[in-house]
Order: sequence, then C-alpha cells, then structure tokens
Amino acid sequence: MKIAFIGLGNMGGPMAANLAKAGHEVTGFDLAAPMPEGVAKADTAAAAANGAEVVVTMLPNGQILRAVADDVIPAMSAGAVLCDCSTVDVDSARAVAEQAANAGMGALDAPVSGGVGGAAGGTLTFMVGGGADAFETVKPLFDIMGQKAVHCGDAGAGQAAKICNNMILGVTMVATCEAFALADKLGLDRGKMFDVVSTSSGYSWTMNAYCPAPGVGPQSPADNGYTPGFAAELMLKDLRLSQQAAESADADTPMGELARALYEQFVENEDGLGKDFSAMLPRFEGRGRG
Ligand code: NAD
Repeated sequence: MKIAFIGLGNMGGPMAANLAKAGHEVTGFDLAAPMPEGVAKADTAAAAANGAEVVVTMLPNGQILRAVADDVIPAMSAGAVLCDCSTVDVDSARAVAEQAANAGMGALDAPVSGGVGGAAGGTLTFMVGGGADAFETVKPLFDIMGQKAVHCGDAGAGQAAKICNNMILGVTMVATCEAFALADKLGLDRGKMFDVVSTSSGYSWTMNAYCPAPGVGPQSPADNGYTPGFAAELMLKDLRLSQQAAESADADTPMGELARALYEQFVENEDGLGKDFSAMLPRFEGRGRG
C-alpha cells in the first residue's frame, strides 16, 4: 500500500518504520524529526500525501492536526483515507472528519494506547472512530502497528474512548497515591497494603500493574526514580482533553476535574514536570490536610 506518514516523533517514527518493514511504500514528513529506516522523505506534508492510499498523522495536538489537514486533504486522491492516530480533542477529530468527507475522502480518528514501547514493538491498541469502509481499508495497517483495533463508532468515538479511559486512569492514580499516603500515616506497611488491595475491591491497573510505591508490586516507574513511563504532563494533557469534552458535551465529571486540577498544580507549580504520573505518591507523602 502507498502510505504517507506525517509526524515521525517518539510514537510516529517507530510506527512508520514498522509499516515500511512490513513492505509498504511509506513517504514521511516531519518539521524536525529524522526519517526512520525505510521511509522516504517528502519536502511537505502535501507532497507526502499526494497519491497515497492512506495518510497517517501522529501529531502533538488538535490545532496542529487541523493545520496539517488543511494542507493534506486537497492533495489526497479521492477515496483515500486520512487516519489520525494522535490524541486530540473530540471536536477537532470531528471537524477534520467532516472536512475529509466533504472532499470525498474517508477519515478515522484512531488514538493509541501502549506508549513508545508499544509503538516500537508493534503492540499498540487502536481505538477507532469513523466509517466502516475506512476502518476496513486501514485495518491491515493497524494489525502491523498494533495488537488490537476496536472500531468504537462514528467520527470522534476513538478519541472519546481514549479520553474516558485516561480520565479513569488519572482519577485512579490519584486515589491509589492518596490511599498509600494515608496508609503510611496509619502505620500500615506498604507491602501489606498492596497484598490486600490488589486482591480486594480497591484493585485497579494503577495498583496492580503500575504500583506508585517503590519496591511494591511488579516493576514500575516508581522503582526507577519515577522516570516516565507516562509523564505527568501527558496525563495533564489528557485530563484537560476530557474536561474540554465534558464541557462541550455538558457532562458532570467532578472527579476528572479534581484530577485535572491536581495534575495541573503538580506539573505547573510543583516539581511534577518530567516525572512519571505515579510520582503523585511522593507528592502526597508527608502532606497534611491543610
Ligand atoms: P512527539 O512530540 O515526539 O512527536 C510529534 C511530532 O510531530 C514531532 O516530531 C514534531 O516535529 C512533529 N510535528 C509537529 N508539527 C508538525 C507539522 N505541522 N507537520 C509535520 N510534523 C509536525 O510526540 P509523540 O510522543 O510521538 O506523541 C504524538 C501523539 O501521540 C500525541 O498526540 C500524544 O498525545 C500521543 N500519544 C503519545 C504517547 C507516548 O507515550 N508518547 C502515548 C499515546 C499517545
């Protein structure tokens, strides 16, 4: 398949490399990042998109996605599919899908879970919004870049799934960290706390698979000085997107809003920038109620 890949950063680079390795003809464009092995370099996004059957984008945010869509949609052939894998706001995903449809193209919002390890290993999970035909066209590429692709519904449904999942993730991480800090103050051993909660009704991915307490549970960024993993500032980005979506859809999300405010304070006013999002635990340690 002839593929254009726009945005070859930490995630896009290895994703494009995997498509090229699988034998597809991949042309890339990025403002700064180098081309991975097997990917031909185009001088502009539009040049990369010209003649491509699928245009994949992996960009920082919705504003940049909208600008890139303005460039690439006029250059795409009728019937081609624009597949955005970035994490962006639902409104931008829907606006770009409409713009593509008006120009006779298919469009998918297909954000991913799995991080840079999943991008390199081809084990990402794709959550996909858009038409069934476009999904079938791109499915073989999802199968190369990932291990699972769920067609969640119409345009925006992929981004909706992503930000709802990550809102739960942010809220449960805060809850897990504050519970460990409370357990400390109550004199409860952290290992015992893990032993009980990980097999009781307080269990969660943040407790069982990504425990924020060093030396407790399976290996996690807490065991590596809270080097990300999943950085606190990326958690903040996703919590902001979920609150933006809640505002736009008139949904009441008080726990998500509180998690957003806590991560904002942690990243912008405290020392959370550059740390894993589980470093909320040392943040809570030693704090009182005041
Ligand atoms: P990144 O900053 O490493 O890569 C983004 C790339 O886009 C950069 O190379 C940048 O030069 C390029 N770019 C910016 N504007 C451009 C333009 N106008 N035209 C062409 N290229 C342009 O970011 P990343 O970590 O690869 O993340 C990309 C997306 O994936 C984000 O939306 C992020 O939220 C999402 N995501 C990241 C992770 C992760 O663990 N890093 C996990 C899941 C989802």
